[in-house]
Amino acid sequence: MSYDSDNIFAKILRDEIPSIRVYEDDATLVFMDIMPRAPGHVLVIPKTPARNILDASPDQLLAVMGTVQKLSHAVMKAFDAEGVTTQQFNEAAGGQEVFHLHVHVLPRHTEVGLNPPGVMGDMGELQANAAKIRAALD
Ligand code: AMP
Repeated sequence: MSYDSDNIFAKILRDEIPSIRVYEDDATLVFMDIMPRAPGHVLVIPKTPARNILDASPDQLLAVMGTVQKLSHAVMKAFDAEGVTTQQFNEAAGGQEVFHLHVHVLPRHTEVGLNPPGVMGDMGELQANAAKIRAALD
């Protein structure tokens, strides 16, 4: 399987479609998941092409996981969470829907389940949650 540069996250990286960005460094970008499974659900992606964990370079994985750790602290602080769930899917059979490497980061609270999948978030709420995460990163 090869990388398709027309995937939706590649378009987000090129600013061809809108996204709610919360953080970036030289190697990674973080933005709000548009169908959040929890308030504060973000996606961490490398800025360079990788379909998923199967073709990513060690450097890409290192950069992404460094940012995942940084955002894990930030979302826990922003949402006063007790834990964090990270998820990462590979190929359609593995649950992947967008074929640019990404890690989900979700703040969690004891005995609070995830929202159902596939439900569009409210834009105002997503923007407000992004602001909380940006503030926690400062
Ligand atoms: P998966 O490949 O299974 O990890 O799922 C892709 C994730 O990307 C889902 O959680 C979607 O809600 C999310 N997603 C899809 N399109 C967008 C978009 N334009 N902006 C932000 N998140 C998106």
